[in-house]
Amino acid sequence: MSQDELQKFINLISRLPGIGQRSAQRIALYLIKNKQELMLPLAESINETARAVKKCQNCGILDTINPCKICTSDMRSTTTICIVEDMADVWAFERSGYHKGLYHVIGGLLSASKNFTEQDLKLNFLKQRIEKNNIQEIILALSATIEGQTTALVIKDSLEGLKIKITQLAYGVPVGSEIHYLDDNTLGAALESRKDLG
Ligand SMILES: [Zn+2]
Repeated sequence: MSQDELQKFINLISRLPGIGQRSAQRIALYLIKNKQELMLPLAESINETARAVKKCQNCGILDTINPCKICTSDMRSTTTICIVEDMADVWAFERSGYHKGLYHVIGGLLSASKNFTEQDLKLNFLKQRIEKNNIQEIILALSATIEGQTTALVIKDSLEGLKIKITQLAYGVPVGSEIHYLDDNTLGAALESRKDLG
């Protein structure tokens, strides 16, 4: 391996969230040192996952099938949709086991600095999904941050006029908490005692 390839490898690792140049160097060295048992299997797994992973056309969940396993499951309640920011939140809810309905992954929160706008929320698509599938309840499960609550409000306003129940997680948690950092019981309690937004 030439120095250029090694540097390119380090640069790519440093683009991962929360990883700077120094950490990237440490990770690269660790991988090289553990070539057989970690580096090569990781490379293979990255390749396989990149090829296999798909975004569900209904809900945005990442899965190997489209529509996803949750959308196509006959064990789920199909009249309730839980709106979450990203896949980590879906994993948190699934781990807790409290949510029996479907999901809608919006992929970001409204924030001027982060370049995620109202258009990115694709609210018309959400509305169509609600109308076509006879959805009865929308649960807004976005983070208790300013961005999360602003986004929740915009979604709620855009759904006005639809004959559905709109609820929001009841946060018995410090403001600022992100959904996927909540432990299972806290998340379950927030869901069970969700507030009706009318
Ligand atoms: Zn889906």
